[in-house]
Amino acid sequence: MKKNTLLTIFIVILSTLGGIMHRTMSRKSPTPASDGGKPIFGTLFTDHMFIMDWNEHSGWHNHRIDTYRPFSVDPASLHMHYGQEIFEGMKAFFTDDQNIVLFRPHDHLHRFNMSAHIMSMPAIDVEITLEWLKKLIAVDRIWVPQEKGQSLYIRPTMIATETTINLKPSSQYTFFIILSPVCSFYDKGFNPISIMATDTYTRSSVGGVGMAKTGGNYAASMRAQVEAHKAGYAQVLWLDPVERRYVEEVGTMNVFFVIDNVLVTPALTNTILSGITRRTVLEIAKKWNMPTDERRISIDEVVNAITSGKLTEAFGTGTAVGIAPIGNLSYQNNEYQINGNETGPIAHKIYNELMNIQQGKTCDNAWIESIV
Ligand SMILES: *Cc1c(COP(=O)(O)O)cnc(C)c1O
Repeated sequence: MKKNTLLTIFIVILSTLGGIMHRTMSRKSPTPASDGGKPIFGTLFTDHMFIMDWNEHSGWHNHRIDTYRPFSVDPASLHMHYGQEIFEGMKAFFTDDQNIVLFRPHDHLHRFNMSAHIMSMPAIDVEITLEWLKKLIAVDRIWVPQEKGQSLYIRPTMIATETTINLKPSSQYTFFIILSPVCSFYDKGFNPISIMATDTYTRSSVGGVGMAKTGGNYAASMRAQVEAHKAGYAQVLWLDPVERRYVEEVGTMNVFFVIDNVLVTPALTNTILSGITRRTVLEIAKKWNMPTDERRISIDEVVNAITSGKLTEAFGTGTAVGIAPIGNLSYQNNEYQINGNETGPIAHKIYNELMNIQQGKTCDNAWIESIV
């Protein structure tokens, strides 16, 4: 054997050992990563992951739970060039009676299949995938945080893995699920965010893929997000791509307003992502006999309703945060304060209800599913 080859082997062994040591050292504690009490969302992952592969001949096959580790990927792998990839974001919770439950897992996996359909990717078997997800969480159950408001964030993902830079739907895919313990976003209090409406950029296009959870939508949204951050706002308020007039979403959340005591949210179109938290909030409001309205709502209506005092609350909804109250809106260089920049009673009440359901505190538990 040549000296060079021996040296290479030695280096490979050393770096592998280094990698293993680094992994072991960095996974001492199953508590969510935080920076002085501020949660760092999605930076810490559990010990295992679920993987399965797809090709035209075998369909989904080779289902396995493996140790969490980097993939080895061909540089010509299709997803890296043309973004044929989709994902989901869902959560598992530790309940008061020491159970681990998933929140609306069927809805999430069905939406994953909707994203797959939009992106010309193969559907997964929802029941089989859910069984494997439960097995994965059972294997990593010590990683499920137990404090109030904390949860295990679940990230199912599918990537196109055919080795080609030919533009076409891939003939091979890999599906995986990784898990990340996360803090509540509100360890420092349930405080409102300020947002900036943009009429320069849009999140999705008519006839496009805005209602799919596909990476390209998020990559394309970063420019507006960066500009909003620079100007001191937490999130972008997206308007419709045609007239730049109707409100669509806030950041990667759906958006709600309380106008004249009616809970108003934009009606779903193919430029709006159909949030499961959005659906849940509407269903909770209906259960409480609170009037709701899914309709078109223009930015001018929002602004006028704020200045006339009819609009009393605004908030975003999404799996990561649950409810995100909005205290300040900027539009065309004007600032509008909502509810004196305080979290309103309806946002509070819905947030508490959502937490109670997810932590198994209400009898009405049709939305949660135990992992055992
Ligand atoms: C995921 C997502 C949402 C929220 O959906 P949930 O199912 O409530 O988590 C809203 N908008 C966009 C663009 C999203 O990606």
